[in-house]
Amino acid sequence: MTTIETKLPKVGTTIFTQMSALAVEYDAINLSQGFPDFDGADYLKQRVCHHIQTGANQYAPMSGVPVLTQAIAQKSFNLYQKQIDPVNEITVTSGATEAIFAAVHAVVKAGDEVIVFDPAYDCYEPAIDLAGGYCIHIPLTDPDFSLDWDLLSQAINDKTRLIIINSPHNPTGSIITRDDLERLWQLIKNRDILLISDEVYEHILFDQQPHASVLTHQSLYERSFVISSFGKTYHVTGWKVGYCVAPKALTSEFRKVHQYITFSTSTPMQFGIADMLHAHPEHAQQLPDFYQQKRDVFASYIEKTHFKLLPCAGTYFQLVDYSGISELSDFDFCVWLIKEAGVAAIPVSVFYQNPPPNQKIIRFCFAKGEDTLAEAGRRLASL
Ligand code: PMP
Ligand code: GLN
Repeated sequence: MTTIETKLPKVGTTIFTQMSALAVEYDAINLSQGFPDFDGADYLKQRVCHHIQTGANQYAPMSGVPVLTQAIAQKSFNLYQKQIDPVNEITVTSGATEAIFAAVHAVVKAGDEVIVFDPAYDCYEPAIDLAGGYCIHIPLTDPDFSLDWDLLSQAINDKTRLIIINSPHNPTGSIITRDDLERLWQLIKNRDILLISDEVYEHILFDQQPHASVLTHQSLYERSFVISSFGKTYHVTGWKVGYCVAPKALTSEFRKVHQYITFSTSTPMQFGIADMLHAHPEHAQQLPDFYQQKRDVFASYIEKTHFKLLPCAGTYFQLVDYSGISELSDFDFCVWLIKEAGVAAIPVSVFYQNPPPNQKIIRFCFAKGEDTLAEAGRRLASL
């Protein structure tokens, strides 16, 4: 008889899988797991089909097909005025999740400390644990979910190897500013600390706010893995294509891991996305308006309910406070909401090491068509 001692004792099935499964079971409107209920552009889909039909079906180069890495470099220059060498600084990955895992494993050794900010996206800590690192959780401030500089500077020590930031932030929708980047730089500049900047929602910011990419801060960039995902940008989360931009030395270590996690990413998808980047650079520029309209429509429905809206500066997630409706814990409330109202959401406490005891907040995904949002609004108003 063999015994299996789990390497991830804190991990079960992710909250996204749990809530989506319950949504299916109870035929609820699924505003839990973050994915659009509308499709990517016809042009993008046609180009991927074209590349499948015309033989782009074998392994892609390990670091990505050159037309795509060049298009990413061009996009980054257009958006952030940042010159990136596509050969040595860009690696295409199988989603941002793979990029985060590879970046953590490229640099974190046993005993290293890695700082994350709670509520933290769920894939950071398991990657750190598997690398033998210690995940140090720092809560974002209450109530506006910004960085707590005092707690951060107290947490930094000689064992700190890596800090993971995420802006626009999932699940809270808060954003980091250019001043924050400078402040972060001042905190780490005299230490041997690296950065992962999870920027998968880089194109989804509202109210004319610019995205403060780490690509715009040269000193920080020299220590950073900057990660994005085409799943979010092109409404194709199921395609799992992302990328990591990092200086040459970091990219070299990153690729040592990437090549043994997956070696390379789906070839026809990469060619199709490269075509989309070339043909429709305006797509990303239109995303803020596209999603701001959805945010505002959804907010107008929530205003007619007993939920309280929290600010949302970016991403396609809306936090709401349900303390006016129920005393249940957020997890139990989400299960109740699926069964009683037919709407699925995500409890926010699962993204904390120590959830604030009286916090009654859940997350809705508003990347949905008008009819879905209207029906969800109608159901929530009945509570
Ligand atoms: N980081 C954040 C903050 C996310 O929300 C997500 C996915 N929703 C990812 C990373 C992973 O992206 P991908 O689906 O490309 O793996
Ligand atoms: N990132 C998506 C979300 O936050 C979920 C992705 C997943 O299911 N792992 O909802």
